[in-house]
Amino acid sequence: MTATTDTLRFATRFWEALPQDLPEAPRQPRQVAQACASAVDPEPMPAPELLAWSADCAAQLGLADPADAPEREAAAQLWAGQRGAPGGQCYALRYGGHQFGNWAGQLGDGRVINLGELRDAQGVWQTLQLKGAGRTPYSRGADGRAVLRSSIREYVLSEAMAALGVPTSRALALVGSGEQVERDMFYDGRPRLEPGAIVTRVAPSFVRLGNFEIHAALEETDTLRRLCDYVMAEHYPEQGGDVVGFYAEVCRRTARLLADWMSLGFVHGVMNTDNLSILGLTIDYGPFGWLEPLEPDWTPNTTDAQQRRYCYARQPQIAQWNLGCLGAALMPLGPPRAELEQALRAFHAEYNAAFRARMAAKLGLEAIGAEDEDWLQQLFALMQARALDFSRTFRALSGPLAQAQGEALLAALDAHSYAESDWTPQQRALAEQWFAGWHARRRVAPEALRAHNPAVVPRNWLLAEAIEAAEAGDMSVLERLQAALARPFEDPADAHLAGLRPDWARDKAGCSQLSCSS
Ligand code: AMP
Ligand code: MG
Repeated sequence: MTATTDTLRFATRFWEALPQDLPEAPRQPRQVAQACASAVDPEPMPAPELLAWSADCAAQLGLADPADAPEREAAAQLWAGQRGAPGGQCYALRYGGHQFGNWAGQLGDGRVINLGELRDAQGVWQTLQLKGAGRTPYSRGADGRAVLRSSIREYVLSEAMAALGVPTSRALALVGSGEQVERDMFYDGRPRLEPGAIVTRVAPSFVRLGNFEIHAALEETDTLRRLCDYVMAEHYPEQGGDVVGFYAEVCRRTARLLADWMSLGFVHGVMNTDNLSILGLTIDYGPFGWLEPLEPDWTPNTTDAQQRRYCYARQPQIAQWNLGCLGAALMPLGPPRAELEQALRAFHAEYNAAFRARMAAKLGLEAIGAEDEDWLQQLFALMQARALDFSRTFRALSGPLAQAQGEALLAALDAHSYAESDWTPQQRALAEQWFAGWHARRRVAPEALRAHNPAVVPRNWLLAEAIEAAEAGDMSVLERLQAALARPFEDPADAHLAGLRPDWARDKAGCSQLSCSS
C-alpha cells in the first residue's frame, strides 16, 4: 500500500514511550532535565520547493512519488515541516557528547525536528526527521537552519552509502526553504548569505551514543534506564534486555561499520560521540571526504587540521574510544564492569576480522589472515608512496592491474597516481613484487572484483560541481551524479564521474578542506 502526502500518518512510539519535555517557549535555548525529547514544531519557511526526491527511499517507505506540480508542492510543504507531523508529535532529541575528546555537556537536536515514525515496506519502523527545520531548545543561540550546500552533501551521501552497502541513515527529500541563511564558511569574519534547505532523514533510530551519555552525566539514572530499555526492546530484541549483550552488539556493529568506511576510504570527519549511531549506522554527514591519494593522516575537516584526531587511519581507534564513553554511560545501570571492558576490547578483533574480510573480497582472495597483515600493509605503503587514488586503484584491479607486469604495471598504476616524482628503484621493486604475489594468490576472475570496488564514490569535488550548479538553479548535475551513485559498481556513462581529482579541486575550499559551517 502506498501512502500519499495526504494519507500519511506518523506514529509517536519513541515520543510516547519516554520522558517528555513540554517547553512553554520551545525556541528558548535551555538546559533540559530528566527528558529524552522536547516538543517543538518546525518554523515557518517562506517558500518551500522540492529540489530532489529519492524514489528508492520512498519505495522503501511505501510512499508514492509526487507525480505532478500540485503533488510536488504538497510534498515540499510536508517535508519542510509546514504541516507538522500529521497524526503525530514533532520533537527534538536531547543528547550530549564528547567533542574532540572533551565532554561538551548538553547538545541535542539544535536544528533537527522529528516527525515520528512510519512503518516501511518491510514492516520496520522508521523515524523521519527534518534537518534544518528551525530552532529548538537545543539550538544554543544558533539559527536552526541548514544551507543548500551542506544539505546536498548529506542528501547525496545518505543515498550513495546505502547503494554502496554501508549502513547509513537515508534521505527521502531535499527541500529548498526559500530563505537566505547567513554563514561564515571560511571562518574569516566575512559571512555571506546562502540558500537554506531541509533534508528529510530516515533511520530506524537517530539515537546516538550521546543520548545515553547525557543522562549518565547528570545522574538521571531512571531516564537512562528507560532509554536503554526502549532501545534494547526496539532494536536489540535478541539480547533479551541484557545490558552487556546490548553493549557488545553495539561494539560489534560499530566495528563492522568502521571496516566498511576503511575499506572504501571514507573519512567521516567529525566522529564525536554525538555523531555515532547506537545502531552502527553512518549518520550526520558534515565535513566528510574520500581518500584520493592514500594519506593515513588525511582529514577533510579544517577544524581538525592541527590535531588530526579524526583522520583516516585513526577512525577505528576513535570509534573504540567513543564506545568506551558509551560503556561508562551504561555503568549506572549496574552491569559488571569487567564484562563491559571485555566487550570493548573485543572491538579490535571484530574490526580486524571485518576489515580483512572486506579486503579479501576487494582483492579476490579466499581470506586474509593476521599473518597477511604485513603483506596488506605493503600494498598500502606502495599506494601511499606513489600517491595512488584509493578508489580508482582498487577498481583497476579488475582491469589493467589484473595482469600487468614490468613497465606495463608501472604505467597502469601511473594512471591513478597524483605523484609528481618518478618511481624510485625501491618503489618499482615493491610494486613488482607485491603484484606478482597478488596475481599468484587471486582466486576469482578479475570481473568478480568489480562488485567490491566501486567505480564511483561521492568525492567532494563531484559534490562541489553539483552544488555550484544547484545554487545557480540547475539540478541536472546533481541528478546525473545521483543516478551514477545509485549504481556505484557499474562504470558510469560519463567517465568524468570516475575520474582522478582534477587540479582545480586540489586546494579548493569545499573540496579538499571543509569547515563545519553548514
Ligand atoms: P554537528 O557538528 O553538525 O554534529 O552539530 C553539533 C551540535 O550543534 C548539534 O547539537 C547540532 O544540533 C548543533 N547545531 C549545528 N548547527 C546548528 C544550527 N545552525 N542551529 C542550531 N544548532 C546547530
Ligand atoms: Mg551531529
